[in-house]
Amino acid sequence: MSPSASTHIKRCAYCEQWTDGAKEYCEHCGHEHDKQYKDEVRKRIERGDPRVPIIQVQYDDPIWLKILKRPIQVAQLILYAFVAFLVYLTTVFAH
Ligand SMILES: [Zn+2]
Repeated sequence: MSPSASTHIKRCAYCEQWTDGAKEYCEHCGHEHDKQYKDEVRKRIERGDPRVPIIQVQYDDPIWLKILKRPIQVAQLILYAFVAFLVYLTTVFAH
């Protein structure tokens, strides 16, 4: 019983079973992996907004996932603030 057969083993955020992360859906509960995040990305691509949305911490996320997502969220916010600052600088000095 080794999961090493697949390099894409990941844990389903809903049923918390280990499943093949290379597949779009959980093998146990059929839930689509990272569905809300992917939906948001799809919506933004349709709207022509190339920015990746800030990762959302869901109410029903397992605690380890919340801990994992926090620093990513903070990093994204810092990055966006930096980009906004660069845009501000170019507007100020573009005259
Ligand atoms: Zn599942």
